[in-house]
Amino acid sequence: MKILVTNPEKCSGCRICEITCSYFHEQIFNPAKARIQIVSNKKEAIFYPLICEQCEKAPCSEVCPVKAISKNDETGAWVVDVKKCIGCKMCVQACPAGIMNFDSDAGVSMKCDLCSGDTQCVKYCPMGAIEYIDESKISLKRKSWVGKKILATVSESK
Ligand code: SF4
Ligand code: SF4
Repeated sequence: MKILVTNPEKCSGCRICEITCSYFHEQIFNPAKARIQIVSNKKEAIFYPLICEQCEKAPCSEVCPVKAISKNDETGAWVVDVKKCIGCKMCVQACPAGIMNFDSDAGVSMKCDLCSGDTQCVKYCPMGAIEYIDESKISLKRKSWVGKKILATVSESK
């Protein structure tokens, strides 16, 4: 199974991922309708792509009173069935990552569905800040990123 992984150190804050996501899913260029969010601290020039973790036991799905969020067994993505969604926003409140979005025009929740396996944010990010890789390679990749950060911090403080 493949999952999304972010490399915040590469993110420039251009927000092309948000625009691409909203266009792919909603056919409009509007970051408010994206399933990925760029969190930024402009003062310190820090940008962080916030993505759905596709939790193993997803709180968004567990709290939904009408069982509108179910797992796609092929991609592993939790997917909102907009025909079932009643717009109660319980999932928005339950998401520990704060990444569940809500389409107030349509009155339904929006979340990352991994673009059915053809991840658009990964495809169009000019910095390579988001990857879609096999789950088995994750811990090694994350460890290597954390290791580089620690080394950088240590050498800066010398
Ligand atoms: S907003 Fe929709 S998907 Fe979310 S909990 Fe309510 S009914 Fe379920
Ligand atoms: S929307 Fe939130 S709760 Fe649901 S799978 Fe993604 S990270 Fe987990």
